[in-house]
Amino acid sequence: MPTCPHVAYTLSRYIALLLLYLAPGFAGSYRFRIVWDGSKLWKGACISTEGDRIRSVGECPPTAIDLSRYTAIPGLIDAHTHLTYLLENAVSASARPAAVVYLSQENARKTLETGVTTVRNLGAADYTDIAMRDLIDRGLMTGPRMFVSGYGLTISRAGSPSPGTADGVADVLRVVRQQIAAGADWVKVYGSTGSGRDVTGRQTFTFEEMKAAVDAAHALGKRIAIHSYGPEGARDAVRAGADSIEHAADMDDATLAEMARRRIFYVPTIDHNRYYADNYMKLNYPPQAVGDLNAFIRRNLETAHKAFLAGVRFAMGSDAVYTMFGENTRELEWFVKAGMTAEQALRTATTNGAQLLGMDRSLGAIRPGYFADIAALEGNPLEDIQVAIHKVRWVMKSGVVVVDKTK
Ligand SMILES: [Zn+2]
Repeated sequence: MPTCPHVAYTLSRYIALLLLYLAPGFAGSYRFRIVWDGSKLWKGACISTEGDRIRSVGECPPTAIDLSRYTAIPGLIDAHTHLTYLLENAVSASARPAAVVYLSQENARKTLETGVTTVRNLGAADYTDIAMRDLIDRGLMTGPRMFVSGYGLTISRAGSPSPGTADGVADVLRVVRQQIAAGADWVKVYGSTGSGRDVTGRQTFTFEEMKAAVDAAHALGKRIAIHSYGPEGARDAVRAGADSIEHAADMDDATLAEMARRRIFYVPTIDHNRYYADNYMKLNYPPQAVGDLNAFIRRNLETAHKAFLAGVRFAMGSDAVYTMFGENTRELEWFVKAGMTAEQALRTATTNGAQLLGMDRSLGAIRPGYFADIAALEGNPLEDIQVAIHKVRWVMKSGVVVVDKTK
């Protein structure tokens, strides 16, 4: 029997609409044992989503999907990653950026498995971070929502200069503006030595250079993170008005008081040196590097403790590189060691992370209108932070289930 083309067209439209309705992420309700929404607890509550957003928290419709074994928390924010840093990439140099974007998908996937649905990625070569961010935003790659910085600014150092190399105020202005023009959301400045097995913290950029970078970023509506292992670079980064200080150990009381007063975030990244020490052989570090790394960890933890007592705001950043993805949230354990309750530690990776990003009206909480970013955990993370680190069973990002280990 010949089919009327009009009827076939109408039918296909209905089928398409039906498929759209059934597609993951369109609409759904999920029942949890507990919901921690970023500030308070709901018992036996449902989270309903519509498209990429949360529609409501509370009442359960009869059609709700049963996740009542689990505690729901907001999708976590890792404020310091390097998703495109790979341990091995045996591709000829000219083709490397394309291979890096392809191979970094594994880091993105492992990050989602930790319940992290948003990252601030602070440094990448060849704008591979911008490519990943855009592919993920368009649904063409699976990974966390990314806020990226392009090249981090460095002073001249041994080896050939990178597009991030800048010496003097004029150079700094040019490189900051180039990163933003290329599509960076953030600016990253390496304000001291220290990286990998090298835990020296000698200041690199001067105060004037840091101030120029901060003002140039802010003038273009962007925020800026300054890396400093040591206290001098951190002090000048705070005075210059950076939005976050990465890593710093040994910050003095005056610097910590100034950070608290100016509401500058501290992202201590204590755990990344634990990862380096645990993996020194895989990373080809000499055995004596382990002692240096552990000594730095002790000073970093002590500084975090003092900063917490001084009222400095923290954001959780893993500084994950290479094979550390999947361990992104182990930093939370250090925050508890530094004196936080489990709930305070969770805030560093939810509401605080969202504030750091300027996204606190759409990220970091389970609230109507916010992005439907949810991690389901087996256990209660407010009683034991290890639950948040090791018991992630299900993750939703923008209304789409991206991890499901419930079966
Ligand atoms: Zn880093």
